[in-house]
Amino acid sequence: MKRRPFHTMLFLFVAASMAVVVTTPLPAAAGADVSAVRFWTAPDHTRVVVDLTSEPSYSTRVLTDPDRVVVLVLDGGIGVAQVATPVGDGLVDRVRLNQLQSGTQVVVDLKTASAHSVFALKPYLNKPNRIVIDIFDSERPGAAPAARPEDAEESRPYVVIIDPGHGGEDPGTLGNGELVEKDVVLDISRTFAALLESRGGYDVRLTRDGDYFVRLAKRKEIAGKCKGDIFISIHANSAPNKRADGSEIFYVSPRGASDQAARELADRENAADLVGGVSPDAGVDVLSILVDLKMSDSVQKSSDLAGLVRDELGKAKAGDCAIKQAGFLVLKSLAMPSILVEVGFLTNSSDVKKLKRPAYRQSYAECLAAAVDRYFDRYTPVVVQHGGTHKVALGETLWTIARRYDITIGDLRSMNGLDVSATIQVDQVLTVTRS
Ligand SMILES: [Zn+2]
Repeated sequence: MKRRPFHTMLFLFVAASMAVVVTTPLPAAAGADVSAVRFWTAPDHTRVVVDLTSEPSYSTRVLTDPDRVVVLVLDGGIGVAQVATPVGDGLVDRVRLNQLQSGTQVVVDLKTASAHSVFALKPYLNKPNRIVIDIFDSERPGAAPAARPEDAEESRPYVVIIDPGHGGEDPGTLGNGELVEKDVVLDISRTFAALLESRGGYDVRLTRDGDYFVRLAKRKEIAGKCKGDIFISIHANSAPNKRADGSEIFYVSPRGASDQAARELADRENAADLVGGVSPDAGVDVLSILVDLKMSDSVQKSSDLAGLVRDELGKAKAGDCAIKQAGFLVLKSLAMPSILVEVGFLTNSSDVKKLKRPAYRQSYAECLAAAVDRYFDRYTPVVVQHGGTHKVALGETLWTIARRYDITIGDLRSMNGLDVSATIQVDQVLTVTRS
């Protein structure tokens, strides 16, 4: 049985000439004070997050002249010194807080009238109650917001797959002979995993947790079985040029390797199965699946994750860090956002000196963990409990939708009467839960 697409109510495309009022009823709670205002600029939207001291009752209005989205947090106060947050990213000018008798107004000043989505999130991990205001760039293709089931969101542990490269009979690179890749990467991976685990709210899986060989296909299988939200492969680099140093972060790109060195590195890391005693399997298959399923959503997220890691490494002054694109087998067929981090060159004496220090490896792992925190701040996975339908957004596939609602493609097809050859269209409404 198909359900009414209630989410059509959710998104408001602003008619420039008129003001529209939408009220979102939530359980009343006294005095949700604003404790912080944060924002992120994504290619197709800007996300404003308002931290609150308790669960809010709020209403949303859209006003024109100038265009703005106004969220009134009933009975709320302002617990921050700075009442105006400049944004200026071409979509949002700034976010202002006004104290009214009835509560706190959060005013998002827009550049022009834009589609928006406002929803509340309950506390999770170190995050308090929040109101999220997404402003979508209607100019750009794909900017139409993906539908969000209205009352259906609940946080769940974030599943992080950490993949220490090589192991056992495959040592990885031996560099200048002082450090062995498989040992360095296992140590950093374990510390990284422990850091995330200690925060709570993360479900962390290591693809190997000891000195043994795991073939590439097995690593991917582990990631898929655990339904990872993200996959981070940890390796160490080598180069004929002993002066090459610093970190390199790779993600898979539909365009292929970004330079010759990246291509050669991919060849070298891909040879792990040969070294480990398994013939490389199904490379071509893997590629076609990749292009079909992974590209739309995951590439952007992988690229963002890479950027966050570089940013954290930069803050920790962990040396140069380049982001590159290449075709690593271990990343290729993964349907989740994934990166491969080369933590340094074992052929470079200064990198080796750093990586030999436990304190450096610890701080490297801390950078990775901080980047993962920020990633999930940006891309909070949600569990859909009562959602009944999903409106197809640009770039989505049956596969990404099925994964989002934790159902199989077969289920999705049968619930919607789609045969194997059926295609889906943008804005098509699909049933996503069994009735
Ligand atoms: Zn490696």
